[in-house]
Amino acid sequence: MALIVHKYGGTSMGSTERIRNVAKRVAKWARAGHQMVVVPSAMSGETNRLLGLAKDVSPAVHSPAVARELDMIACTGEQVSVGLLALAIQAEGLEAVSYSGWQVPIKTDSSYTKARIESIDDARVRADLAAGKVVVITGFQGVDEGNNITTLGRGGSDTSAVAVAAAMKADECLIYTDVDGVYTTDPRVVPEARRLHTISFEEMLEMASLGSKVLQIRSVEFAGKYRVPMRVLSSFTSWDIPIEEEAKSGTLITFEEDEKMEQAVVSGIAFNRDEAKITVLGVPDKPGIAYGILGKVAEANIDVDVIIQNVSNEGKTDFSFTVHRNDYQRTVDLLKSDVVPALGAAAVIGDTRICKVSIVGIGMRSHAGVASTMFRCLSEEGINIQMITTSEIKTSVVIDEKYMELAVRALHRAFELDQ
Ligand code: ADP
Ligand code: ASP
Ligand code: MG
Repeated sequence: MALIVHKYGGTSMGSTERIRNVAKRVAKWARAGHQMVVVPSAMSGETNRLLGLAKDVSPAVHSPAVARELDMIACTGEQVSVGLLALAIQAEGLEAVSYSGWQVPIKTDSSYTKARIESIDDARVRADLAAGKVVVITGFQGVDEGNNITTLGRGGSDTSAVAVAAAMKADECLIYTDVDGVYTTDPRVVPEARRLHTISFEEMLEMASLGSKVLQIRSVEFAGKYRVPMRVLSSFTSWDIPIEEEAKSGTLITFEEDEKMEQAVVSGIAFNRDEAKITVLGVPDKPGIAYGILGKVAEANIDVDVIIQNVSNEGKTDFSFTVHRNDYQRTVDLLKSDVVPALGAAAVIGDTRICKVSIVGIGMRSHAGVASTMFRCLSEEGINIQMITTSEIKTSVVIDEKYMELAVRALHRAFELDQ
C-alpha cells in the first residue's frame, strides 16, 4: 500500500462526464489498496471566466486590495471541482471528502495572485486517509496568516499537488493532463515533437521557467527540494487500464544525471510569449545605472528577466530588459516618471511583440558549439536575434513574436529532436 497524490488539470476536469471518469480512475487506485489524495484544477476555462468577471467590474489597476479580491473570486473554480469530484468518487462506492486550501490548511504568504506555500498541516488529511477516505483538496489556493484566501499563480494546481505530496511524504505524485507526458517541445506547436520517457529535474526546471506550461515552475522546485517522485501522464487513456501499465506511462522526472549521459545534447525547446522588452535610451554610462533602473523596478515588485547593457558611445549607453507583459505598462510609466529624470536618460521605448525561445539540455555543459548551432539555424531562417542569454544548460534568444513558431520548428529540426 502506498500514499499516492493524483493531480488533474482543467481539461481533465472539463465536464461532469470527465469528472466521472477521473473518479473511476481514482477509485481503481483506491481499490488496489492505495491511500489517495486528489488535487483537481477548476474546470477548463473557469478561471479565465472568473477573472473576466472581475475585469468587467473593476478598472485594471494593480493593487494589493484588488489582488486580494481576485483571489477570492478565482479560487472558487477549484472549490466547485473538489465538491463535484468527491461526489463522483462517492458515487463509485467509496468514502470521499473535499477540502478547500484553508480547511487543510495550506498556509501561504500574502502575495495575492502569486502566493508561495509556506507550510501544510496534514493532520486532518491523515486522519481521513486512516479512516479509509479518499481526500480531495483544491489546487491553486491557500490561506495566509490573516486568514485571507490566496492563490498560487496560473497553473498553480501542479504546485499544490507536489507540495501536498512533499508534506505527506507521498510515494508518488502523478500529474494527469491532456497530453501523455513531457515532450521535446509543445506538441501543439510542433506536431513532430516526441514524448520523453524521462527528463532530469534540472532540465524540467529550465523548461518550466522558460515557458513550457506543462508544469508550473514552483511544482518542479518543490519536487527537487523534497525529492518528490513525480510523473506527468495522460488523463485521456481509458480509466480501466491496468495500474502497473498506467504507473509506467508518461514522463518521469528523474534526479539522477547519469541516466542522461548517452542522450541528446539538447533535450527540449521552450518558448514564452508572455514577456515584453523595454529599453532606456541614452543613459549616462557611470556606476549605478543598473541599480538606478532595476532597483526602482524591483521596489515596485516587478520581476525582470533578460537584461542587456550596450557598450557606451560618447559616455551614453542603452539599457534593455524584459518583464512580464502584464507589468509592461506599469514599468514604462515608472521609468518615465521616476527613472528617466533621475538618471538624465534620453527616453524609454518598448516592444510587446517579442517572444523568447530557448534550447535546454544538460548535455550543453559538456558540448561546445551548441549555441552557435542555434544562431546559425535562426540566421538561415532570416530571424533577427534581439537579445541573448545563456546559462550552463540553456540558451535563450529574444526574437520578434511573429517568428516564434518558425524558430521553434527550425530549432527542433536542427537539433534532431524529431529523430
Ligand atoms: P493542465 O490543465 O492539465 O494543467 P496545461 O494546459 O497546464 O494542462 O498543460 C498541458 C499543456 O502544456 C499541453 O496541452 C501542451 O500544449 C502544453 N505544453 C507546453 N510545452 C509542453 C511540452 N514540452 N510537453 C508537453 N506539453 C507541453
Ligand atoms: N485553475 C488555475 C488556472 O487556470 C490553476 C490550474 O489550473 O492549475 O490557472
Ligand atoms: Mg497546468
